[in-house]
Amino acid sequence: MKRFSLIFSAVMLCVIAAMAEAKYVFYFIGDGMGMGHVNTTEMYNRTVLQSADPLLMMTFPVASQARTYSANSPVTDSAAAGTALSTGHKTRNGMIGENADSVAVESIARNFQRAGYAIGVASTVAGDDATPAAFYAHAHARYDKYNIANQAITSGYDFFAAPLWRGAKDDQGNDNDWTDRMRSQGYNVVVGNENLIDCHFDSKLLLLSANPQGDQVGYTLDFPDNRLTAEQITTAGLRRLHNANPERFFLMVEGGNIDWCAHANDGATVIKEILDFQKAIRVAYDFYMQHPDESLIVVTADHDTGGMAFGRYDNEKKGRLQLVDLQRMSKDRFSDYCKARLSQNETFTWEEMQQVLSDNFGFFTHVNLSQDDIAKLRESFDLTFTRREAVDQKTLYNAFNQFAVIVLDIFNRELGIGWTSSNHTANFVPVYAIGAGADLFRGSLNNTEIPGLILRAADLD
Ligand SMILES: [Zn+2]
Repeated sequence: MKRFSLIFSAVMLCVIAAMAEAKYVFYFIGDGMGMGHVNTTEMYNRTVLQSADPLLMMTFPVASQARTYSANSPVTDSAAAGTALSTGHKTRNGMIGENADSVAVESIARNFQRAGYAIGVASTVAGDDATPAAFYAHAHARYDKYNIANQAITSGYDFFAAPLWRGAKDDQGNDNDWTDRMRSQGYNVVVGNENLIDCHFDSKLLLLSANPQGDQVGYTLDFPDNRLTAEQITTAGLRRLHNANPERFFLMVEGGNIDWCAHANDGATVIKEILDFQKAIRVAYDFYMQHPDESLIVVTADHDTGGMAFGRYDNEKKGRLQLVDLQRMSKDRFSDYCKARLSQNETFTWEEMQQVLSDNFGFFTHVNLSQDDIAKLRESFDLTFTRREAVDQKTLYNAFNQFAVIVLDIFNRELGIGWTSSNHTANFVPVYAIGAGADLFRGSLNNTEIPGLILRAADLD
């Protein structure tokens, strides 16, 4: 009898655990992080880093996929995708927190807020960029930065983190009063993770970067140190939210610059960004391990960017991911370097450039270039730096120096990484889940189902 009641108690505990609602909700969105991006990063993790474990997200018990099309296009943009992931509504590309008929629709962050959860929204790119904006704002146009940034001020959320807010500067690039207005709403404004040392996490917190690179925190590959990281953001958010409400919180963290380097078709930088994003996921995972019955972690992407794949028709050697670590500058930074050399008006010899390529991409030493490659590089070098006639190549976030484009094309070919686009694609995105309610996320999903499932996991639907 005693044994029976012990077994009965154990079974009941399991049943209760299975029914437990998600009180601590982590929602990670890798912007542009398609299946190919995750898979290629995992191959690097396995074959180059020789990790015994796959990527953390791949160890979660639920691994599903989601469709990402928007209301007006098979290929979504981040605004429509962010709106789908935050509100459960398909909308037209460019629109934030509104349905396809331009009617405001509610983010699940608001449902959680009304239910008493502490709320955090964070990103490694601008805090008023599309994905974070979709969790607190409504706007007809994703680039309506003042309108979007203003809505952060009145959100009442407990935690925001991003390198910067575009809407915090006027059109001349000078600071406006946005940060002061955040302060007046009770936000403790901390610039730079190191300045959190004095923070007691006892009031609303806005964490900014001390040294943003453009509109993002800076790529892991370019700035391995001295950069606001997704991991730091998640750690700060967890401390703030757990302090604001030890019982319940909802935290969304976007790995925003994964998308940017995918737009650039810069494979090595994508791999390093996803590994960096994994560190943020691990912060949540460690918390989950301490609260396994009450925590839910969902990791997904808003869309695929670039159609990245390992394996390409013009690399019969099947690619060499070992070369990834030879890249010492992102495509963005190398392009900036080339532009800076052009603006200096000094002669830049082919021999000097060969040294730069050797130092930063292993060209001529580790990467064996064909005679055709060298001829192509030489020709582009002359056009770009001697005749100064090359035209920059525009993508969504940059206008790349043409010589840099050719260098990275060759480097990606040698890695064995191919791209179908410099923009988004309609590929499926992965969905990973662990913890309370994770089973709800099984199957082939539409991205609009995900926020509703998160609410259901928390028993708020
Ligand atoms: Zn996106």
